[in-house]
Amino acid sequence: MAALLSPEELENHRLAHELIRLKLRLPIVNYLTQIHHKPLRLRWRAIHGESPPNGRLPESVRPFIPDPFSVAELSSFVAMYNRLDHAGGRKVTASMLLRAWEMHRRVTHNELDINAAWYAIRDVRSKIVAWKRCGRCRTSFIYEVNETHARDCPFCALSRER
Ligand SMILES: [Zn+2]
Repeated sequence: MAALLSPEELENHRLAHELIRLKLRLPIVNYLTQIHHKPLRLRWRAIHGESPPNGRLPESVRPFIPDPFSVAELSSFVAMYNRLDHAGGRKVTASMLLRAWEMHRRVTHNELDINAAWYAIRDVRSKIVAWKRCGRCRTSFIYEVNETHARDCPFCALSRER
């Protein structure tokens, strides 16, 4: 390390550290923090004692929503993110992703896959998947026309199962 980091850079590195601790794929950490791949890979090895995964990144949230439960879970994450992002519709940032993830963990006592969380909010914002409001229970949910179980409100589907 040559130059001293500014407070903004320090905060950015702290966010990258948290995202890597949660195992967010490094190309996404790079996209969100603009920190180079090499220091990110070194950080991953230091934290996890192994190399970061090299496989292809998913193209969308679709592999993360195999059933109504996962649609419901990711929909509740997106709803929390939207509540925190009062202005709405802004670019997804590392700090907002972490804040919403942490809030979801505190409310549900469940550690969401941070990669799934990223794809869910990114895809809703960029309209890769739709964000609909259920006419029956009034809850908003991720709507994906190509997935049978994501063409209906997951919360109503889950309450019918019981
Ligand atoms: Zn519903």
